[in-house]
Amino acid sequence: MGRIYTPFPPSPLEPIPKSPIPARMSTLDPADWSALRALGHKMMDDMVNHLAGLRERPVWQPMPEATRAGFTAPLPAQPSAPETLYETFQSTIQPYVTGNTHPRFMGWVHGGGNPVSMLAEFLAGAMNANCGGRNHAGIVVERQVIAWAAEMLGLPESTGGVLLTGSSMANFVAVLCARFYALGEDGRRQGVAGRKLVAYASAGVHRCVPDALDMAGIGTSALRLIPVDAQFRMDLAALRAAIAVDRAAGHRPFLIVGTAGTVDVGAFDDLASLADIAQAEGAWFHVDGAFGALATLSPRLKPLTNGIARADSVAFDFHKWAQVTYDAGCVLVRDREIERATFTQATNYLAHAPRGLAGGAPWPCDLGPDLSRGFRALKVWMTLSAYGSGALGRIVDDTCALAQRLAGLVEASARLELRAPVKLNIVCFGVAGYSDAQTAELVADLQEEGLFAPSTTMIGGRLAIRAAIVNHRTRAEDIDALVAEILRRI
Ligand SMILES: *Cc1c(COP(=O)(O)O)cnc(C)c1O
Repeated sequence: MGRIYTPFPPSPLEPIPKSPIPARMSTLDPADWSALRALGHKMMDDMVNHLAGLRERPVWQPMPEATRAGFTAPLPAQPSAPETLYETFQSTIQPYVTGNTHPRFMGWVHGGGNPVSMLAEFLAGAMNANCGGRNHAGIVVERQVIAWAAEMLGLPESTGGVLLTGSSMANFVAVLCARFYALGEDGRRQGVAGRKLVAYASAGVHRCVPDALDMAGIGTSALRLIPVDAQFRMDLAALRAAIAVDRAAGHRPFLIVGTAGTVDVGAFDDLASLADIAQAEGAWFHVDGAFGALATLSPRLKPLTNGIARADSVAFDFHKWAQVTYDAGCVLVRDREIERATFTQATNYLAHAPRGLAGGAPWPCDLGPDLSRGFRALKVWMTLSAYGSGALGRIVDDTCALAQRLAGLVEASARLELRAPVKLNIVCFGVAGYSDAQTAELVADLQEEGLFAPSTTMIGGRLAIRAAIVNHRTRAEDIDALVAEILRRI
């Protein structure tokens, strides 16, 4: 019988066959950098021209089917020249992105970005820092940004926080902190089963808040949606009544969510009263201030945010009113130790050390759900530093003034009607006598022709045109042109 297996390890007399090692190991870096450098310079020139020439372009245009089909290719096995890929980008990607950099983009609540943030994204890419943790400049810059955010909202020095993709994740992190506050370590180990936790928010709350309760295992039915008053603020008497009913039924009110700037109409809940109620109930007080929290930068609008400084946590975005490029969300947690206790995990491979690269605790991965994460903080730090909080506050003011201008034009027209009070930068309006279908058609036409990009929302059971003025590039002439174009069509 012949040998049916090879003995391992091989005997010392049999040499181990060497796998051939190429003279040059495979690397993704070019042998000669000059072509890449030239391409990079060209991209930079083109993108600066792109930003400088936004007004001459359509706001948005639908991606043609043939172009779309180019993105159903199999995984590339063979290389392509970056120059060719850049040409593909210019012809098939660049013309068909969202359009929120454009001054006539007024849909949803989208920030316009800014050129300094664009450059910072490039620098962050070059550093490729992993800001999940460890002892390096990326973490220091992020802590600076978090401290600035806390200062902006009037939160104390004990405040912790992390940068995240957006307010959806920030609200989720806040709900997890509230869960920890209510249930402690036990809640992390055992979950929430049978604990009868209930939370409260206004009927105008963003859908990511019920989503957060869902993802936290608490369930969307634990969120009581409290009716709003004529100003679209949470009705406080209704809130107190709902809490009493829940207490009587043996539920545990653990979280009250106030909204600073509702996504539909830009309404502010009475945050100071919500803070009082949360305090009396022993509940966590969270504020979803996705864009509205930035009103603290405007001396004129700041009073709307009264009470935000008493929040246990705040979710907001730098990528909306603060004009940082996507994505840049932020959660602040008043007591950093609660945030840490909510997320920290003991593992050997992530052990902290008193010195060396494993020093510098706590790390962002101890304060939120992400481990590996990019250097978002750089573009936020550069944007805030380059323009200063004063200029950003003026953008907040100016966009609100443009919203008032739009509201005034709507009210002055016999054919248009205002559908919600304009407190901030969002104007919901409609065409008198139009059906929902006609309104939807009108908005889709404006978008598809690349002229303007408002969005729509339901107000009082009817579809309204919704213009959210967020972009620092939008001017009075854009507002006037929007109204003129709508009036021409109806
Ligand atoms: C935009 C918005 C959110 C969601 O934020 P993302 O950054 O899109 O995740 C949540 N709440 C409000 C009030 C918003 O306007």
